[in-house]
Parts: sequence; C-alpha cells; structure tokens
Amino acid sequence: MDYQGILNVIEDKLKGEKLDGEVATYIPELAKVNPDKLGMHLTSVIGEEFHFGDSEERFSIQSISKVMSLALAFITEEEEKIWERVDVEPSGDPFNSLVQLEHERGIPRNPLINSGALVICDILVSHLKNPKQEYLDFVRKIAGNTTIDYNEKVAKSEKAEGYNNRAMINLIKGYGNIDNDVEEVLDFYFDTCSLSMSCRELAQTFVIFANQGKLLQNQKRVLSEVHTKRINAIMQTCGFYDEAGEFSFRVGLPGKSGVGGGIVAIYPNMYSVAVWSPKLNEKGNSTAGMRALELLTEITGSSIF
Ligand code: GLN
Repeated sequence: MDYQGILNVIEDKLKGEKLDGEVATYIPELAKVNPDKLGMHLTSVIGEEFHFGDSEERFSIQSISKVMSLALAFITEEEEKIWERVDVEPSGDPFNSLVQLEHERGIPRNPLINSGALVICDILVSHLKNPKQEYLDFVRKIAGNTTIDYNEKVAKSEKAEGYNNRAMINLIKGYGNIDNDVEEVLDFYFDTCSLSMSCRELAQTFVIFANQGKLLQNQKRVLSEVHTKRINAIMQTCGFYDEAGEFSFRVGLPGKSGVGGGIVAIYPNMYSVAVWSPKLNEKGNSTAGMRALELLTEITGSSIF
C-alpha cells in the first residue's frame, strides 16, 4: 500500500476543506497553542514510517494517556480487581460528566473517561512506589524513546483549574472507590495528561496495540494478547466519549482522542496512526483529526469492519 501517497492526498484534501473548531481553553496552557497546526504520522507493523506536516512537533496528549494508564494497570493489578471498580460500557456522556457517577454509585462507566481514569490512577498509586516516574518509564519503554517527558507547565495549569476533576474524585471517594488521598491521585492524573508527544512518537507508542502486545523494536511481549484485545475493544467503544459511535461509523478503527487535539488509532496487524490538529468540535475531539482518519480508511478501502 502506498501510504505516503495516501497521506499526501489526505493533506491536500484537508487544506481544501472548511474544518472548524475551537482550541481547548479550560486548561489555560492549552489555549496558547497555534490552532492551525496539522500533522499526521503512520507507523506500520513492519516498521515503515509515513508522515506529513507538523508530525514531529510535540503537543499535550491529554486523555490519550488514559490508554497507557490502563495498559500499566493490567501489568500491576489482577484483572478481576480492576473490573470490580470500573465498568466497560460506553458512557454516551461528555468526558468530564458527573451525572452517571451518582446513579451508578461511584463506579465509572469505563477507563477512558475522566472518572474511570481517576480510578485507574488510584490503582497505580496503590501499587507503584513512584507512580510518576514508573508511568513515564513505562511510556518510554513502549515508545522505544527515552526523551518523552511530562510538560510541567501544562500539569501546573490544570492542577490550578481542575475543579471538575476535583469534584469528581471526591464524589467517587465518597462512594468508597478511591483508596488513596484524593490530592495525590489527582496530581498523578494531571501529570499523566500533561505528557508531551509528537504524532510520530504517538504512532510509534501505539503500534504495540496493533502488534498484539509486542514491542516493534524486538518483538518482546509487554501485554498479553487478551489484554491487548481488551484495550482495543475499549478504545473502539469508549475512546471518543459521546462521539464514540460517530468515530466508529466514520473511521472504523479503535482509537483515542485528547483535548490537546491529538487522535491516535490502530488497525490490528497493520498500522498505528496519529494525527494532530488543535481545533476541537463540540464533543472535544479534533475536527480535522477525525476527518483525516475517515479519509484514511475511505481511501485505503479498509477498516476493521
Ligand atoms: N486533562 C483533561 C481533563 O481531565 C483530559 C480531558 C481530555 O483530553 N478529554 O479534563
């Protein structure tokens, strides 16, 4: 498949389309990003790399980090114990919604919305000696890249303003589903969201989920096949909050978005692909990012469906 040729066509098409949206501003540091950035990078499971635009520039990955948190939880906690505390159903609600939490007595709908990720972070805080460092080491290992790091400014900016997440974790704690100190868990959660990565780095990190849980560099297994299946299934059904159905319908790949404007998607046994454009639609997903991935599966004529 001529992926580079296809990416070039996508770049051209995106430039000719009116793809509106707003940069996230509720995290003040994110509001400073240039809204016109656009980049895309595809890594195939045989290690080929294709890209265009600002694909080497790092941005705030935000909720995309929730996938790595879940992967690390699979390695550190017994699986049944995770599912006693978080469900695996699509929420149909915004990523930061508190509504279901009260009805469902502090059990978040899934690990890829804020409430679920907070519970996963609590699990990691319970099991890891130094969660911030060990999480970073884990991401660097699956990325095959020791330069990936947190962005302290972004983390600080969200820590100062994160009222909604603070309300959420306190509500969950009230139902007995947070074991550790809420501020300690929140701090760690905001750090994970502040990871700064480029499209290239994201595609190279997520290729493990297209490669049945094995690292591309040496084919060493990091995640079991079953855990890889579960992560991909949860990305498919829950990766885009209340737009998960729309993403499935238009793109047809498991994926995850973040309010920094990044989206990463995988095609099992074929490739992983990351795209970045900071302008978000009203559901908090990158407008051009979704369109780019829709074009990719349309032009290649293949998706998991
Ligand atoms: N850090 C953001 C938050 O908690 C992540 C949200 C997102 O990317 N959807 O609100």
